[in-house]
Amino acid sequence: MFNEYYSKRQQMVDTQLIPRGIHDIRVLNAMRKIPRHLFLDEALWPQAYEDHPLPIGEKQTISQPYIVALMTEALQLKGKEKILEIGTGSGYQTAILAELAEQVYTIERIPVIAKRARKTFDELKCTNIVITISDGTRGWQEHAPYDGIIVTAAAPRTPNPLFEQLEIGCKLVIPIGDEHFQDLMLYTKEGEDTHKEENYGGCRFVKLIGEHSWKE
Ligand code: SAH
Repeated sequence: MFNEYYSKRQQMVDTQLIPRGIHDIRVLNAMRKIPRHLFLDEALWPQAYEDHPLPIGEKQTISQPYIVALMTEALQLKGKEKILEIGTGSGYQTAILAELAEQVYTIERIPVIAKRARKTFDELKCTNIVITISDGTRGWQEHAPYDGIIVTAAAPRTPNPLFEQLEIGCKLVIPIGDEHFQDLMLYTKEGEDTHKEENYGGCRFVKLIGEHSWKE
């Protein structure tokens, strides 16, 4: 059992991530290590390492492995960072971040999804993750400023509180667009009101719903 999923995971890295340009060795090692199938219903375990998103209930999805790796690599983590994640979902992306940064704060708006993720974090002994049920478009002021922010749901524009809670010199990655199609945007905060932006290409995420994004 362990070996079956272990080898599928190595194959996922070798065939889906490296050929598409993911090269940060720490990111590749985290993707080789974290057991993605354990963030899914057991019925989906056989598909856990395939090259696409999968359902996690409540009409939400776990992102495709490549997108998780791409967003993580974009943050350029070195190991000492405090990260904010909006849209915990399955918690898989959270666990990857927790492997690469010092502390991860993550926000999920749907209680049953958050409870399941919390249970998985406990089972896998991810001790540097704190999860809360809330509207992540407001950020999480209590622990700000963050050394990186990642939003794993699509928004029409970047919620202002997230820019405000980002440390100067640090990065925010978020899919920006309409309800059907987005561009994966990477912003680097250069000053209180200035930032550089880079477009990482097209993607499809479920909607970010909240005060500073779409309404339900
Ligand atoms: N990275 C996750 C993606 C989950 S899908 C994974 O790979 O599993 C996006 C998640 O964002 C959903 O669970 C959805 O409920 C959540 N979400 C949407 N709007 C939100 C908001 N305003 N605050 C927090 N979470 C939100």
